[in-house]
Parts: sequence; C-alpha cells; structure tokens
Amino acid sequence: MALFVQKFGGTSVGTVGRIREVAKRVAASVAGGDQVVVVVSAMSGETNRLEKLGFHVAPRPTPREMDVLLAAGEQVSVALVAMALIDLGRPARSWLGTQVAIRTDATHMKARIAGIDVAGLRGDLDAGVTPVVAGFQGVNEAGDITTFGRGASDTTAIALAAAIGAAECQIYTDVDGVYTADPRIVPDARRLDAICVDEMLELASLGSKVLHARSLEFVGRYGVPMRVLSSFQDVGAGTGTLIKKEESAMEDILVSGLAHQRDEAKLTVIGIPDVPGMASRILGPIGAASIEVDMIVQNTSADGLADLTFTVSRADYERAKEILTDIRGAVGARRIEGDDRIAKVSAVGLGMRSHAGVATRMFDALAAENINIQMISTSEIKISVVVEERCLDQAVRAIHAAFGLQGTSAIDDS
Ligand code: ADP
Ligand code: ASP
Ligand code: MG
Repeated sequence: MALFVQKFGGTSVGTVGRIREVAKRVAASVAGGDQVVVVVSAMSGETNRLEKLGFHVAPRPTPREMDVLLAAGEQVSVALVAMALIDLGRPARSWLGTQVAIRTDATHMKARIAGIDVAGLRGDLDAGVTPVVAGFQGVNEAGDITTFGRGASDTTAIALAAAIGAAECQIYTDVDGVYTADPRIVPDARRLDAICVDEMLELASLGSKVLHARSLEFVGRYGVPMRVLSSFQDVGAGTGTLIKKEESAMEDILVSGLAHQRDEAKLTVIGIPDVPGMASRILGPIGAASIEVDMIVQNTSADGLADLTFTVSRADYERAKEILTDIRGAVGARRIEGDDRIAKVSAVGLGMRSHAGVATRMFDALAAENINIQMISTSEIKISVVVEERCLDQAVRAIHAAFGLQGTSAIDDS
C-alpha cells in the first residue's frame, strides 16, 4: 500500500464525462490498495471566466476580492469530483484550502504556502475516505482566502505530497509527459522519460506551461518524486515523465528542452544621459508598481547618450508605458518606444555548463530562417532570445531541429 497525491488539471476535469473518468481512475487506485489524496483545478476555462468577470466589474479589482472570486472555480470541481467518487461507491470528501488548512503568507493572488495541517486529511485516509482538495488556494493569518498564481494547483499538489509524506506526486494533465518542446507547436517533439528538477524549473520559469514553476522548488527542497502523466490514457498505460532531484548523466545532453513565452512586450527609453543611477531611476517606479521586469539591455551610443530596453509581460505593457511617459521628462529621455508583439524562446540544458557553441547553433538556426533576434539573455543553463511574435512557432521548430531534439512520439489527441 502506498500513498499518492494525484492532481488533475483543468482539461482533465473539464466536463461531466471527464470528471467521471477522473473518479474512475482514483477509485481504481484505491481499489488496488493505495491511498490517494486528490487535488483538482477548476474546470478548464473557468478561472479565465471568473477573472474576466472581475475585470468587467472593476478595472482594478482589489486583490482580496479577486481571490475570493478565483477560488470559487476549484470549489465547484472538488465538490463534483467528490460526488462522482461517492456515486461509484467510494467514500470521499471535498476540502477547500481554508478547511485543510493550507496556510499562506499575506500576499493576495501570489501567496506562498507557509504550512499545511494534514491532520484532517490523515483522518479521512485512516477512515477509508478519499480527500479531494482544492488546488490553487489557501488561507492567510487573517482568515482571508488567498490564491497562488495561475497554474498553481501543481504547487498545492506537491506541497501536500511533501507535508503528508506521499510516495509520489502524480500530475495528471492533457499530455502524457514533459516533451522537448510544447507538442502543440512542435509536432515531432519527444517525450522525456525523466528530467532533473533544475532543468524543469528553468523550463517552467521560462514559460513551459506543463508545470507551475514553484512546484519544482518543492521537489528540489523535499525530494518528493513528481511524475507528469496523461489523464486521457487508460489506467497504467504510460509512465509519463519523472521529475528527478538528482542530475545524473544528463550533462552529456547539450539541450534538454525548449520553452517559449508568447505574451511578452518590450519598452525602450531612448536618449538618456549615460550617468550612474539611470537604470534605478527608470526601473524603480516600474518595480514599485509591482511590474516584473524580465530582460534588460542598455546600450551607449557615440553621442554619449544611452538607450535602456526591458521586457515585461504583455498584461503590464500599457501600465509600464504610462509610467515611463510620466517620468520621461524627469530622467531627461528623448522618447519612449514600445512593442507588444514580441515573444521569447529559450533553450535549457545542464550540458551548457560544460560545452561551448550552444548559442552559436541557436543563432545559426534562426539566421537560416531569416528570423531577427531582438534581445538575448543567457545564464549557466539557458539561452533566451526575443523575436517577433509572428515568428515564434517557426523559431521554436527551427531551434528544436537544430539541436536534434525530435523524436517519434507525438501529442496524444485521443
Ligand atoms: P493542466 O490544466 O492539466 O494544468 P496545462 O494546460 O497547465 O494543463 O499544461 C499542459 C499543457 O502544457 C499541454 O497541453 C501543452 O500544450 C503545454 N506544454 C508546454 N510545454 C510543454 C512541454 N515541454 N511538454 C508538455 N507539454 C507542454
Ligand atoms: N485554476 C487555476 C488556473 O487556471 C489553477 C490551476 O489550474 O492550476 O490558473
Ligand atoms: Mg497547469
């Protein structure tokens, strides 16, 4: 008998039929003698719908109320999954974040988990009841509902797995594992049997949607094995992708996978005096408005003036532009330029630490496709480039082929 956390994402619980399939899968595990803590996301599209509703009612809704609103999606799906299990003759009970309790810090909409009380869930398991826990939500010290950021049910699942001592955290989704690139863009992407946590964290942070980046911090810290599997395949059909803590032998592979991020934007402050303190005077107000800045490049021209370019997520573009326009005079800039039709593609691999030439191969692949690179950023195990959004798919495919990442297995659309 083993204890598993099984998390089902939005598409996996997207319809009544899918919910019944999830219940059958969980019931089969329990019937086989395992204990399961289920974690579910909102039904697909639901969190988007609620978010839009909030923004329609108020252009800048207060984060506290936004959390109450967004958390409602998971309240619906835990109830439905528990009902479906009970209907199959398997005792089950739904749990909201606050009921568990999944305790968080005070930050709304991006709360971090501070601790989880597992006593209630253990009580259920001991009594032969399968707990069905709402992903993505918790409760802060004031008793208010908090949420953890889009896609964060994965983080709920792994945090629970660590807290309750599960043998494995299984992330069931609509693909049968982690691929060398998003299989929706690269049809011949290859499924990886395993990937180490450092690479997966980098891929997720760089836009790979398959796992929430923060969930990987828990894998790194607590060493709970995590596996990505398809909820659309028959029970026991595939072994998915194991996220491993250790790095073993992966160093000979130059690039393990690609990630992309579509909704990016860049802003350039042109003609600023080339003196100390400029970056801080420009980026300070951006940070103060809670706008996250990603890449930053500064160039100095022959006339002694400098240009500062940085990227932000597209949702923050208009706000960032407003701030720059407000401070333009004070920092002595000539003008502000922007482009909200850019995207980022990144190559990730531990092998980059010890091998040169990765960047060149990536740049050559883009040059051969006549794709212009607008910005570049590198770190020990990744290279990212910014390109025009309309070239993104072509860029991902070209880089994927250049590193020989293609395989035979493709996305399972059944
Ligand atoms: P869920 O609703 O189950 O959490 P997500 O939509 O968040 O599912 O994540 C699964 C999606 O991630 C897939 O449908 C796929 O398009 C996308 N994806 C992006 N990069 C990858 C990758 N490297 N491997 C597999 N899937 C990926
Ligand atoms: N329902 C939330 C979202 O759509 C959390 C999740 O799906 O992981 O972002
Ligand atoms: Mg997800």
